Amino acid sequence: MPRSRPSRRSSYFNPNDATKQVVSGPHIITGVTAELRTFLVAAQRDIFQGYAARQAQRGDQVTKNGFVDYCGVIGQHKAFQPRDGKHKKGAAIDIDAKFNPWTVVGAKSDTPPFGGETPSNFRTGGKTPANDAELKRMRTAAMIAYERALNFTFGTKSMDMSSRPLTSSDSPENTFERYDRVNRALRLYMNCGFESTKNNSIAKTANPQPRSLDGIRDAIMNAVEGGFFERTELPFSPSDQAALAQFQSEVAEDYAAMRKVCIYGSWTLDKGVQGFTSSRDPCYGIMSHRKHVVKCLLHVRVNNKRLRWGAVHFGSDESGDMMHFDLGAIADSLKSTTEPNPDGIFFAP
Ligand SMILES: [Zn+2]
Repeated sequence: MPRSRPSRRSSYFNPNDATKQVVSGPHIITGVTAELRTFLVAAQRDIFQGYAARQAQRGDQVTKNGFVDYCGVIGQHKAFQPRDGKHKKGAAIDIDAKFNPWTVVGAKSDTPPFGGETPSNFRTGGKTPANDAELKRMRTAAMIAYERALNFTFGTKSMDMSSRPLTSSDSPENTFERYDRVNRALRLYMNCGFESTKNNSIAKTANPQPRSLDGIRDAIMNAVEGGFFERTELPFSPSDQAALAQFQSEVAEDYAAMRKVCIYGSWTLDKGVQGFTSSRDPCYGIMSHRKHVVKCLLHVRVNNKRLRWGAVHFGSDESGDMMHFDLGAIADSLKSTTEPNPDGIFFAP
């Protein structure tokens, strides 16, 4: 079986098709400050140079549409938002928010702490011992889902999605790969167990059922043909009914666990009960970012300072905000604003 990285253009599962169905408007709907714009323009220049070099190597022309495809950012960005800190200053941007959720991060399932989105009522007295215990339980279940997905895809559950600052040995590339490894595994695992939705959204009240045993077998065989497994032998024989049944019950458990931690909008935990309206579809994994985009965003330095990525730079309790990049301490001296386009700048990709 080929060990090559799965193609995002495979007919087996192409999240970009789904994205195109839901987003047709402008890519950015609120603006950024001049300070953030400087970073974004520099990152865009670097990403473009990578694209131009690739085209030259192929003997192909550089086109605007080609560059858009290369970036792979099809959903909307959201920069200024009236509610929270850095966004309120136009000093943060959420990239392709629909496909880059706030998910759970950590080193491995038996080694807390785990980061993730904090329930909105925790800031207003909701952080009771019972609710806090439930939050930890939910995050642990997501970590176990990651490990089962990794084991299924790579033949090892070894992972490292801990949040920590960049170092010389922990480069933007390494950081991206630590997370994308889990992302690829989750997509394969969940798609073998469930059919994906068309718009990456599942109502809380919905009750999606896993594929039948035959459906799981067929999905696994399709994934083999598509080169999606990154291991030499399959996790089990696709004709082994008992193994298929065990996979079906585990993937259903893990799908439910992921639906509880990747939520649209703010959510609450009250007396151990979760309140939310809709969740992401676990079949879409935990991000849609392309490596070269994240790499350039994290490499760029302005006055020797770098952008922060919410996925890894929000500390051990709150990291996992995959869509979010911001100015970090640079934003401290900036004022909050109620103007959705703070410096009259609409950053156009
Ligand atoms: Zn954000």
